[in-house]
Amino acid sequence: MSKMDNLRAMREARYAEAQKRAAAAPVKPAVKVPVAPPAAAKKAKVEPKVEPAADELCGHRNMSGRTCTREQGHAAKSHRYS
Ligand SMILES: [Zn+2]
Repeated sequence: MSKMDNLRAMREARYAEAQKRAAAAPVKPAVKVPVAPPAAAKKAKVEPKVEPAADELCGHRNMSGRTCTREQGHAAKSHRYS
């Protein structure tokens, strides 16, 4: 009988451990969240494909009267007319 009690105690301990882990789990993503936004902002800065707002364009005009569609103060040497 004591053997059964032992087994039950072990099972209950394991269950309690699992419960504790499950309760602690939601904390991990919350800690990770502050790390994500800076990385996303960094990526957006580097990402050249992001279409800038109309009022943030370079606005440089080429000989045929087209306007540069790159962002204002773009790092690229050439203007883009598309
Ligand atoms: Zn330009």
